[in-house]
Amino acid sequence: MTEQTPGFSTLAIHAGAAPDPTTGARITPIYQTASYVFEDVDQAAKLFGLETFGNIYGRLTNPTQAVLEERVAALEGGVAALAVASGHAAQLIVFHTLLQPGDEFIASRKLYGGSINQFSNAFKNFGWNVVWADPADPASFEKAVTPRTKAIFIESIANPGGIVTDIAAVAHVAKRAGVPLIVDNTLATPYLCRPIEHGADIVVHSLTKFLAGHGNSLGGIIIDAGNFDWSRENRYPMLCEPRPEYNGLVFHQNFGNFAFAVACRALGLRDLGPCISPFNAFQILTGIETLPLRMQRHADNAKAVAEFLSDHPKVAWVSYAGLPGDRYHGLQQKYAPKGAGAVFTFGLKGGYDAGVTLVKSVELFSHLANVGDTRSLVIHPASTTHRQLTDAQKVAAGAGPDVVRLSVGIEDVADIIADLDQALSHID
Ligand SMILES: *Cc1c(COP(=O)(O)O)cnc(C)c1O
Repeated sequence: MTEQTPGFSTLAIHAGAAPDPTTGARITPIYQTASYVFEDVDQAAKLFGLETFGNIYGRLTNPTQAVLEERVAALEGGVAALAVASGHAAQLIVFHTLLQPGDEFIASRKLYGGSINQFSNAFKNFGWNVVWADPADPASFEKAVTPRTKAIFIESIANPGGIVTDIAAVAHVAKRAGVPLIVDNTLATPYLCRPIEHGADIVVHSLTKFLAGHGNSLGGIIIDAGNFDWSRENRYPMLCEPRPEYNGLVFHQNFGNFAFAVACRALGLRDLGPCISPFNAFQILTGIETLPLRMQRHADNAKAVAEFLSDHPKVAWVSYAGLPGDRYHGLQQKYAPKGAGAVFTFGLKGGYDAGVTLVKSVELFSHLANVGDTRSLVIHPASTTHRQLTDAQKVAAGAGPDVVRLSVGIEDVADIIADLDQALSHID
Protein backbone atom coordinates (compact mmCIF):
# COMPACT_ATOMS: atom_id res chain seq x y z
CA MET A 1 0.00 0.00 0.00
CA THR A 2 1.23 3.51 -0.78
CA GLU A 3 1.26 6.18 1.91
CA GLN A 4 -1.57 8.54 1.03
CA THR A 5 -1.65 11.99 2.62
CA PRO A 6 -5.30 12.70 3.50
CA GLY A 7 -6.92 15.46 1.46
CA PHE A 8 -8.80 18.46 2.85
CA SER A 9 -12.28 16.88 2.65
CA THR A 10 -11.06 13.75 4.46
CA LEU A 11 -9.45 15.85 7.21
CA ALA A 12 -12.66 17.90 7.57
CA ILE A 13 -14.47 14.70 8.59
CA HIS A 14 -11.78 12.65 10.34
CA ALA A 15 -8.92 14.80 11.71
CA GLY A 16 -8.64 14.45 15.48
CA ALA A 17 -11.51 11.95 15.81
CA ALA A 18 -11.68 8.20 16.43
CA PRO A 19 -14.51 5.93 17.63
CA ASP A 20 -14.92 6.27 21.39
CA PRO A 21 -12.70 3.56 22.97
CA THR A 22 -15.16 2.78 25.79
CA THR A 23 -18.53 2.86 24.08
CA GLY A 24 -17.72 2.51 20.38
CA ALA A 25 -19.63 5.72 19.64
CA ARG A 26 -18.71 6.70 16.06
CA ILE A 27 -19.42 10.43 16.50
CA THR A 28 -17.29 12.38 18.99
CA PRO A 29 -19.56 12.58 22.08
CA ILE A 30 -20.42 15.75 23.96
CA TYR A 31 -18.31 15.35 27.11
CA GLN A 32 -20.66 17.40 29.27
CA THR A 33 -18.57 17.45 32.43
CA ALA A 34 -17.03 20.27 34.45
CA SER A 35 -14.18 18.23 35.91
CA TYR A 36 -12.15 15.01 35.64
CA VAL A 37 -11.08 12.38 38.22
CA PHE A 38 -7.31 12.07 38.79
CA GLU A 39 -5.71 8.63 38.50
CA ASP A 40 -3.72 9.24 41.69
CA VAL A 41 -1.97 11.99 43.64
CA ASP A 42 1.19 11.71 41.56
CA GLN A 43 -0.66 12.14 38.26
CA ALA A 44 -2.59 15.09 39.71
CA ALA A 45 0.67 16.82 40.68
CA LYS A 46 2.15 16.28 37.23
CA LEU A 47 -0.99 17.64 35.55
CA PHE A 48 -0.90 20.81 37.63
CA GLY A 49 2.80 21.30 36.91
CA LEU A 50 2.27 20.88 33.11
CA GLU A 51 4.69 17.91 33.23
CA THR A 52 2.05 15.75 31.60
CA PHE A 53 -0.97 16.66 29.45
CA GLY A 54 -4.43 15.62 30.54
CA ASN A 55 -7.77 16.83 31.78
CA ILE A 56 -8.05 18.73 35.05
CA TYR A 57 -11.00 21.09 34.78
CA GLY A 58 -13.37 22.20 32.02
CA ARG A 59 -12.05 25.74 31.82
CA LEU A 60 -8.73 24.36 30.51
CA THR A 61 -9.56 21.30 28.41
CA ASN A 62 -12.46 19.12 27.27
CA PRO A 63 -12.31 16.02 25.03
CA THR A 64 -14.97 17.31 22.56
CA GLN A 65 -13.10 20.61 22.35
CA ALA A 66 -9.80 18.75 21.85
CA VAL A 67 -11.12 17.05 18.69
CA LEU A 68 -12.26 20.43 17.36
CA GLU A 69 -8.80 21.86 18.05
CA GLU A 70 -6.99 19.04 16.30
CA ARG A 71 -9.35 19.22 13.34
CA VAL A 72 -8.98 22.95 12.68
CA ALA A 73 -5.19 22.80 13.27
CA ALA A 74 -5.04 20.10 10.55
CA LEU A 75 -7.19 22.10 8.13
CA GLU A 76 -5.06 25.23 8.60
CA GLY A 77 -1.73 23.37 8.54
CA GLY A 78 -0.80 24.47 12.08
CA VAL A 79 0.83 22.46 14.90
CA ALA A 80 -1.75 23.11 17.63
CA ALA A 81 -4.92 25.07 18.36
CA LEU A 82 -7.00 26.41 21.22
CA ALA A 83 -10.79 26.68 20.88
CA VAL A 84 -12.58 29.31 22.98
CA ALA A 85 -16.02 30.86 23.49
CA SER A 86 -16.07 33.26 20.52
CA GLY A 87 -13.95 34.90 17.86
CA HIS A 88 -13.46 37.91 20.10
CA ALA A 89 -12.31 35.69 22.98
CA ALA A 90 -9.71 34.19 20.60
CA GLN A 91 -8.39 37.66 19.75
CA LEU A 92 -8.32 38.67 23.44
CA ILE A 93 -6.26 35.61 24.38
CA VAL A 94 -3.82 36.03 21.46
CA PHE A 95 -3.04 39.63 22.42
CA HIS A 96 -2.96 38.85 26.15
CA THR A 97 -0.22 36.32 25.40
CA LEU A 98 1.79 38.75 23.25
CA LEU A 99 1.41 42.22 24.75
CA GLN A 100 2.42 44.02 27.91
CA PRO A 101 0.94 47.38 29.00
CA GLY A 102 2.35 50.11 26.75
CA ASP A 103 2.97 47.77 23.81
CA GLU A 104 1.66 48.37 20.30
CA PHE A 105 0.31 46.24 17.48
CA ILE A 106 -0.41 47.20 13.89
CA ALA A 107 -3.81 46.27 12.46
CA SER A 108 -5.48 46.66 9.11
CA ARG A 109 -7.89 49.60 9.12
CA LYS A 110 -10.54 47.54 7.28
CA LEU A 111 -11.63 44.83 9.71
CA TYR A 112 -14.83 43.30 11.04
CA GLY A 113 -16.50 46.19 12.94
CA GLY A 114 -16.42 44.31 16.25
CA SER A 115 -12.65 43.92 15.98
CA ILE A 116 -12.23 47.66 15.38
CA ASN A 117 -14.25 48.29 18.58
CA GLN A 118 -12.34 45.67 20.57
CA PHE A 119 -8.95 47.02 19.50
CA SER A 120 -9.73 50.72 19.90
CA ASN A 121 -11.85 50.61 23.08
CA ALA A 122 -11.57 47.47 25.25
CA PHE A 123 -7.85 46.92 24.61
CA LYS A 124 -7.06 50.47 25.76
CA ASN A 125 -7.94 49.39 29.31
CA PHE A 126 -5.09 46.88 29.17
CA GLY A 127 -2.67 49.52 27.88
CA TRP A 128 -2.45 47.80 24.47
CA ASN A 129 -2.28 50.35 21.67
CA VAL A 130 -3.47 49.69 18.13
CA VAL A 131 -1.86 51.51 15.19
CA TRP A 132 -3.90 51.34 11.96
CA ALA A 133 -2.51 50.57 8.50
CA ASP A 134 -4.01 50.33 5.00
CA PRO A 135 -4.64 46.71 3.90
CA ALA A 136 -4.26 47.75 0.24
CA ASP A 137 -0.75 49.12 0.94
CA PRO A 138 1.70 46.72 2.66
CA ALA A 139 4.25 49.58 2.89
CA SER A 140 1.91 51.35 5.33
CA PHE A 141 2.49 48.47 7.80
CA GLU A 142 6.27 48.91 7.46
CA LYS A 143 5.95 52.64 8.18
CA ALA A 144 3.94 51.95 11.34
CA VAL A 145 6.61 49.71 12.96
CA THR A 146 8.19 51.10 16.18
CA PRO A 147 10.34 49.48 18.90
CA ARG A 148 7.10 48.82 20.85
CA THR A 149 5.44 46.90 17.99
CA LYS A 150 4.74 43.32 19.09
CA ALA A 151 2.40 41.96 16.39
CA ILE A 152 0.61 42.63 13.09
CA PHE A 153 -3.07 41.74 12.55
CA ILE A 154 -4.92 41.44 9.22
CA GLU A 155 -7.92 39.63 7.73
CA SER A 156 -7.30 37.39 4.70
CA ILE A 157 -10.59 38.38 3.04
CA ALA A 158 -11.82 41.44 4.91
CA ASN A 159 -15.32 41.99 6.25
CA PRO A 160 -17.20 43.88 4.75
CA GLY A 161 -15.71 45.28 1.46
CA GLY A 162 -14.46 41.99 -0.06
CA ILE A 163 -10.86 43.21 0.25
CA VAL A 164 -8.13 40.57 -0.21
CA THR A 165 -4.95 41.36 1.72
CA ASP A 166 -1.51 40.61 0.25
CA ILE A 167 -0.66 38.18 3.07
CA ALA A 168 2.87 37.35 1.88
CA ALA A 169 3.80 41.05 1.55
CA VAL A 170 2.59 41.83 5.08
CA ALA A 171 4.30 38.63 6.36
CA HIS A 172 7.59 40.04 5.02
CA VAL A 173 7.05 43.25 6.97
CA ALA A 174 6.35 41.19 10.12
CA LYS A 175 9.47 39.08 9.57
CA ARG A 176 11.69 42.15 9.17
CA ALA A 177 10.16 43.65 12.33
CA GLY A 178 10.65 40.36 14.22
CA VAL A 179 6.98 40.12 15.22
CA PRO A 180 4.32 37.48 14.50
CA LEU A 181 1.71 37.98 11.78
CA ILE A 182 -1.82 37.16 12.98
CA VAL A 183 -4.42 36.48 10.28
CA ASP A 184 -8.17 36.44 10.91
CA ASN A 185 -9.24 33.81 8.35
CA THR A 186 -12.94 33.79 9.29
CA LEU A 187 -14.42 34.84 5.95
CA ALA A 188 -12.15 32.71 3.75
CA THR A 189 -11.96 29.60 5.95
CA PRO A 190 -9.03 27.20 5.33
CA TYR A 191 -11.00 25.75 2.40
CA LEU A 192 -10.48 28.93 0.36
CA CYS A 193 -7.23 30.25 1.88
CA ARG A 194 -4.49 28.84 4.13
CA PRO A 195 -2.60 31.85 5.56
CA ILE A 196 0.18 29.76 7.17
CA GLU A 197 1.33 28.75 3.66
CA HIS A 198 1.83 32.47 2.94
CA GLY A 199 3.77 33.32 6.11
CA ALA A 200 1.18 33.75 8.89
CA ASP A 201 2.43 32.77 12.38
CA ILE A 202 -0.96 32.70 14.10
CA VAL A 203 -4.43 32.23 12.57
CA VAL A 204 -7.66 33.14 14.37
CA HIS A 205 -11.27 32.42 13.51
CA SER A 206 -14.72 33.24 14.57
CA LEU A 207 -15.98 29.63 14.38
CA THR A 208 -19.46 31.17 14.63
CA LYS A 209 -19.43 31.91 10.89
CA PHE A 210 -18.63 29.55 8.00
CA LEU A 211 -16.77 26.87 10.00
CA ALA A 212 -19.81 26.14 12.20
CA GLY A 213 -21.81 27.23 9.20
CA HIS A 214 -25.41 27.00 10.42
CA GLY A 215 -25.84 30.13 12.53
CA ASN A 216 -26.45 28.10 15.70
CA SER A 217 -23.31 28.32 17.89
CA LEU A 218 -20.66 30.79 18.92
CA GLY A 219 -17.02 29.80 19.06
CA GLY A 220 -13.51 30.98 18.29
CA ILE A 221 -10.15 29.36 17.70
CA ILE A 222 -6.44 30.20 17.71
CA ILE A 223 -4.10 28.16 15.47
CA ASP A 224 -0.36 28.17 16.15
CA ALA A 225 1.75 27.72 12.98
CA GLY A 226 4.63 26.61 15.20
CA ASN A 227 7.35 28.49 13.35
CA PHE A 228 7.90 31.75 15.23
CA ASP A 229 11.07 32.03 17.35
CA TRP A 230 9.80 33.33 20.71
CA SER A 231 13.23 33.38 22.34
CA ARG A 232 14.60 36.32 20.38
CA GLU A 233 15.44 39.47 22.32
CA ASN A 234 13.22 38.41 25.23
CA ARG A 235 10.40 40.42 23.70
CA TYR A 236 7.55 38.18 24.83
CA PRO A 237 7.68 37.72 28.64
CA MET A 238 4.76 35.26 28.72
CA LEU A 239 6.76 32.92 26.48
CA CYS A 240 10.40 33.54 27.33
CA GLU A 241 10.53 34.47 31.02
CA PRO A 242 10.18 32.00 33.94
CA ARG A 243 6.52 31.79 34.99
CA PRO A 244 6.09 31.93 38.77
CA GLU A 245 2.67 30.19 38.57
CA TYR A 246 4.36 27.11 37.04
CA ASN A 247 7.48 26.87 39.24
CA GLY A 248 9.62 28.99 36.95
CA LEU A 249 8.78 27.11 33.75
CA VAL A 250 9.87 28.92 30.54
CA PHE A 251 7.23 28.16 27.93
CA HIS A 252 9.30 28.41 24.75
CA GLN A 253 12.06 26.21 26.24
CA ASN A 254 9.67 23.63 27.59
CA PHE A 255 7.10 23.40 24.79
CA GLY A 256 9.19 24.17 21.69
CA ASN A 257 7.22 24.89 18.56
CA PHE A 258 3.80 24.72 20.19
CA ALA A 259 4.72 27.02 23.10
CA PHE A 260 2.34 29.74 21.92
CA ALA A 261 -0.70 27.44 21.88
CA VAL A 262 0.17 26.08 25.35
CA ALA A 263 0.68 29.60 26.75
CA CYS A 264 -2.69 30.74 25.32
CA ARG A 265 -4.37 27.89 27.22
CA ALA A 266 -2.34 27.65 30.43
CA LEU A 267 -1.89 31.40 30.99
CA GLY A 268 -4.60 33.14 28.92
CA LEU A 269 -7.64 30.86 28.99
CA ARG A 270 -6.92 29.64 32.52
CA ASP A 271 -6.91 33.16 33.98
CA LEU A 272 -9.30 35.05 31.67
CA GLY A 273 -11.81 32.20 31.42
CA PRO A 274 -13.73 32.35 28.10
CA CYS A 275 -13.88 28.60 27.43
CA ILE A 276 -16.12 27.04 24.76
CA SER A 277 -19.05 24.88 25.86
CA PRO A 278 -18.75 21.17 24.94
CA PHE A 279 -22.13 21.42 23.19
CA ASN A 280 -20.96 24.27 20.95
CA ALA A 281 -17.74 22.38 20.18
CA PHE A 282 -19.90 19.42 19.09
CA GLN A 283 -22.15 21.56 16.88
CA ILE A 284 -19.13 23.21 15.25
CA LEU A 285 -17.42 19.85 14.64
CA THR A 286 -20.54 18.63 12.85
CA GLY A 287 -20.62 21.79 10.77
CA ILE A 288 -16.97 21.44 9.74
CA GLU A 289 -17.61 17.99 8.23
CA THR A 290 -19.40 19.66 5.28
CA LEU A 291 -17.19 22.77 5.09
CA PRO A 292 -15.66 21.97 1.66
CA LEU A 293 -19.09 21.35 0.08
CA ARG A 294 -20.72 24.35 1.68
CA MET A 295 -17.88 26.76 1.04
CA GLN A 296 -17.65 25.98 -2.67
CA ARG A 297 -21.41 26.43 -3.01
CA HIS A 298 -21.30 29.69 -0.98
CA ALA A 299 -18.55 31.07 -3.23
CA ASP A 300 -20.19 29.93 -6.50
CA ASN A 301 -23.55 31.38 -5.46
CA ALA A 302 -21.91 34.65 -4.36
CA LYS A 303 -20.15 35.02 -7.71
CA ALA A 304 -23.43 34.53 -9.60
CA VAL A 305 -25.18 37.06 -7.33
CA ALA A 306 -22.33 39.57 -7.77
CA GLU A 307 -22.60 39.20 -11.57
CA PHE A 308 -26.38 39.71 -11.43
CA LEU A 309 -26.00 42.85 -9.30
CA SER A 310 -23.23 44.28 -11.53
CA ASP A 311 -25.69 44.28 -14.45
CA HIS A 312 -28.63 45.72 -12.50
CA PRO A 313 -29.67 49.30 -13.37
CA LYS A 314 -30.35 50.27 -9.71
CA VAL A 315 -26.91 49.13 -8.53
CA ALA A 316 -24.05 51.68 -8.64
CA TRP A 317 -21.14 49.36 -7.84
CA VAL A 318 -20.28 45.87 -6.58
CA SER A 319 -17.18 45.13 -4.49
CA TYR A 320 -16.48 41.41 -4.94
CA ALA A 321 -12.96 40.12 -5.59
CA GLY A 322 -14.32 37.20 -7.61
CA LEU A 323 -15.34 39.57 -10.44
CA PRO A 324 -12.61 39.86 -13.13
CA GLY A 325 -12.76 43.68 -13.13
CA ASP A 326 -12.40 43.99 -9.33
CA ARG A 327 -9.40 45.81 -7.83
CA TYR A 328 -8.58 42.74 -5.67
CA HIS A 329 -9.14 40.08 -8.35
CA GLY A 330 -5.39 39.47 -8.85
CA LEU A 331 -4.85 38.92 -5.12
CA GLN A 332 -7.92 36.67 -4.97
CA GLN A 333 -6.45 34.52 -7.77
CA LYS A 334 -3.27 34.17 -5.71
CA TYR A 335 -4.67 33.64 -2.20
CA ALA A 336 -8.18 32.20 -2.67
CA PRO A 337 -8.34 30.79 -6.21
CA LYS A 338 -11.34 28.51 -5.50
CA GLY A 339 -13.53 31.53 -4.77
CA ALA A 340 -13.70 34.95 -3.14
CA GLY A 341 -16.00 33.88 -0.30
CA ALA A 342 -19.65 34.75 0.19
CA VAL A 343 -19.61 38.12 1.99
CA PHE A 344 -19.47 41.30 -0.03
CA THR A 345 -20.92 44.78 -0.39
CA PHE A 346 -22.64 46.70 -3.15
CA GLY A 347 -23.93 50.25 -3.54
CA LEU A 348 -27.44 51.38 -4.48
CA LYS A 349 -27.87 54.41 -6.75
CA GLY A 350 -30.83 55.47 -4.55
CA GLY A 351 -28.61 55.84 -1.41
CA TYR A 352 -29.89 55.49 2.16
CA ASP A 353 -33.61 55.24 1.36
CA ALA A 354 -33.00 52.59 -1.29
CA GLY A 355 -30.99 50.54 1.25
CA VAL A 356 -33.85 50.71 3.77
CA THR A 357 -36.38 49.71 1.07
CA LEU A 358 -34.24 46.77 0.01
CA VAL A 359 -33.90 45.24 3.49
CA LYS A 360 -37.65 45.79 4.08
CA SER A 361 -38.54 44.05 0.81
CA VAL A 362 -36.44 40.87 0.90
CA GLU A 363 -38.30 37.64 1.68
CA LEU A 364 -35.78 34.79 1.39
CA PHE A 365 -32.89 36.88 2.80
CA SER A 366 -32.87 37.44 6.57
CA HIS A 367 -32.18 41.00 7.73
CA LEU A 368 -29.73 40.51 10.60
CA ALA A 369 -26.21 41.12 11.89
CA ASN A 370 -24.33 37.91 11.13
CA VAL A 371 -22.52 36.21 8.26
CA GLY A 372 -21.66 32.64 7.33
CA ASP A 373 -25.02 30.93 7.79
CA THR A 374 -26.45 28.41 5.27
CA ARG A 375 -29.20 31.03 4.86
CA SER A 376 -28.73 34.18 2.79
CA LEU A 377 -28.33 37.24 5.03
CA VAL A 378 -28.48 40.97 4.35
CA ILE A 379 -27.76 44.13 6.31
CA HIS A 380 -27.78 47.86 5.55
CA PRO A 381 -24.92 49.02 7.80
CA ALA A 382 -25.80 52.75 7.70
CA SER A 383 -29.18 52.15 9.37
CA THR A 384 -27.98 49.42 11.79
CA THR A 385 -24.40 48.49 12.80
CA HIS A 386 -22.89 51.86 11.81
CA ARG A 387 -25.81 54.20 12.53
CA GLN A 388 -24.03 55.98 15.41
CA LEU A 389 -21.28 57.24 13.08
CA THR A 390 -21.28 60.52 11.12
CA ASP A 391 -21.68 60.22 7.33
CA ALA A 392 -17.94 60.84 6.84
CA GLN A 393 -17.07 58.12 9.39
CA LYS A 394 -19.53 55.75 7.71
CA VAL A 395 -17.88 56.26 4.32
CA ALA A 396 -14.39 55.77 5.86
CA ALA A 397 -15.54 52.47 7.42
CA GLY A 398 -16.91 51.25 4.07
CA ALA A 399 -20.46 51.65 5.38
CA GLY A 400 -21.69 54.70 3.45
CA PRO A 401 -25.46 55.39 3.20
CA ASP A 402 -25.76 53.47 -0.10
CA VAL A 403 -23.90 50.32 1.04
CA VAL A 404 -25.61 46.93 1.43
CA ARG A 405 -23.78 43.85 2.72
CA LEU A 406 -24.72 40.31 1.72
CA SER A 407 -23.72 36.93 3.08
CA VAL A 408 -24.85 34.67 0.25
CA GLY A 409 -26.24 31.33 1.44
CA ILE A 410 -26.36 27.89 -0.13
CA GLU A 411 -30.00 27.93 -1.27
CA ASP A 412 -30.74 27.54 -5.00
CA VAL A 413 -29.00 30.48 -6.61
CA ALA A 414 -32.03 31.18 -8.86
CA ASP A 415 -34.14 31.74 -5.74
CA ILE A 416 -31.52 34.02 -4.16
CA ILE A 417 -31.33 36.14 -7.32
CA ALA A 418 -35.13 36.20 -7.73
CA ASP A 419 -35.49 37.52 -4.16
CA LEU A 420 -32.98 40.33 -4.75
CA ASP A 421 -34.65 41.11 -8.08
CA GLN A 422 -38.11 41.53 -6.52
CA ALA A 423 -36.67 43.53 -3.59
CA LEU A 424 -34.82 45.86 -5.98
CA SER A 425 -38.07 46.39 -7.92
CA HIS A 426 -39.55 48.08 -4.78
CA ILE A 427 -36.95 50.88 -5.01
CA ASP A 428 -38.30 53.94 -6.86
C1 LIG B 1 -17.77 37.58 13.64
C2 LIG B 1 -16.36 37.90 13.41
C3 LIG B 1 -15.45 38.04 14.47
C4 LIG B 1 -15.88 37.93 15.92
O1 LIG B 1 -16.32 36.65 16.21
P1 LIG B 1 -17.42 36.29 17.36
O2 LIG B 1 -17.52 34.82 17.26
O3 LIG B 1 -18.69 37.02 16.96
O4 LIG B 1 -16.87 36.80 18.64
C5 LIG B 1 -14.13 38.31 14.18
N1 LIG B 1 -13.71 38.45 12.91
C6 LIG B 1 -14.55 38.32 11.86
C7 LIG B 1 -14.02 38.47 10.48
C8 LIG B 1 -15.89 38.05 12.07
O5 LIG B 1 -16.72 37.92 11.01
